[in-house]
Amino acid sequence: MQLVIEEKLKELEKNYKNKNLSYWKDWKWQLKNSIKTISAFERLLNIKFTHEEREELEKITSTFPLSITPYYLSLIDPDDYKHDPIFLQAFPSINESMVGNHDMEDPLYEDKDSPVPGITHRYPDRVLFHISNVCAMYCRHCTRKRKVGDVSSIPNKEELKKGIDYIRNTPQIRDVLLSGGDALLLSDENLDWILTEIQKISHVEVIRIGSRVPVVLPYRITGDLVNMLKKHHPIWINTHFNHPRELTEDSKEALRKLADAGIPLGNQSVLLAGINDCPEIIKKLCQQLVKNRVRPYYLYQCDLSEGLAHFRTPVSKGIEIMERLIGHTSGFAVPRYVIDAPGGGGKIPVMPNYFISFAPNKVILRNYEGIITSYKEPDSYKNHDCIKGCEDCKLMMKTYEADKYKAIGIEKLLLDSVDTISLIPQNNNRLQRREDNDED
Ligand code: SF4
Repeated sequence: MQLVIEEKLKELEKNYKNKNLSYWKDWKWQLKNSIKTISAFERLLNIKFTHEEREELEKITSTFPLSITPYYLSLIDPDDYKHDPIFLQAFPSINESMVGNHDMEDPLYEDKDSPVPGITHRYPDRVLFHISNVCAMYCRHCTRKRKVGDVSSIPNKEELKKGIDYIRNTPQIRDVLLSGGDALLLSDENLDWILTEIQKISHVEVIRIGSRVPVVLPYRITGDLVNMLKKHHPIWINTHFNHPRELTEDSKEALRKLADAGIPLGNQSVLLAGINDCPEIIKKLCQQLVKNRVRPYYLYQCDLSEGLAHFRTPVSKGIEIMERLIGHTSGFAVPRYVIDAPGGGGKIPVMPNYFISFAPNKVILRNYEGIITSYKEPDSYKNHDCIKGCEDCKLMMKTYEADKYKAIGIEKLLLDSVDTISLIPQNNNRLQRREDNDED
């Protein structure tokens, strides 16, 4: 398929007629020759749309661009493209124009939780730093369609400096996730500058990079890039494989280079209807990832972003998949299945229920085979109620090493040292009545 595409590209791109095939692995050539129009897709894959279909598809790509690298295109099976998981992730569907009542432009409230442009600060000790808004391939299921692909709003150096200033001025941030768009689409020099600036901040302990280039543009993982990244350890990279067919020899080579550079690799998949909503596909994907030194990290329930309804599965499909992973394959090959809470509540793990019942000092559980078992709890356990400040701490960490921390949420209910006995939603009518009665 690769040669067919190359031949067709050569026909299409007269400029390349005199060049030899070595350019196929040149990531800049791949980007420059990305397929960006419906008509080019039709020519390359011998697809014919009706005039109306083409018009509709072009309307869709005018709001969220179409762009696919020749490499990723070459993975499509042209004889069955309609069911092809690569095609379905890369090529727009007419369903994208359908926006349901519950769909949102920014379902995760990333922009609302943004203290300065480019930063999303949601969790206590970490931030998401959007350093790019371009990608090598525009995934049709992208949750950030509202901004990704808009070349008019690529963050400039001044904007990036403001993000870095926010991190510098916020001492509780110990973990920075560089994402976008695709963080690895920046030049080596620009990325080196950002990593250097962030690493000068003493409270930042780790930097993570989110990138789909190992999947859609593996040639971006060059020796130069890897050598530059190595200077900035501890660096972690999370990538985004959704289907075992994406693990080609070229992408495995990219993963090998990153892993050999000592970069821990994780993978975040999205559960997508008609693409990977099958326990066997996800299991195969996870096992292949582990074989290539990538830890399956998250399996995301598809977000409520506008135009993604056709990609969404019921949550029960995710639970079914987890049921068939947990216990059935190595624990480190099992991702965490999460729903990213609409409204910005963060990732909520969901899984099959393994607890059956409780009694004082006994827990009843079931395992992946359906065996029901009991676990005897200790009769004489003495609880350590850590209140961070106890002079007589018998545990390993001395209190002067412990972070100063204020309990939030459910954690407050668990601590005996905090007086909170319930968490109450705002505008609770019953409590309002109580307050009114007290005033009378
Ligand atoms: S690589 Fe990530 S940010 Fe870019 S289009 Fe795909 S999902 Fe969206």
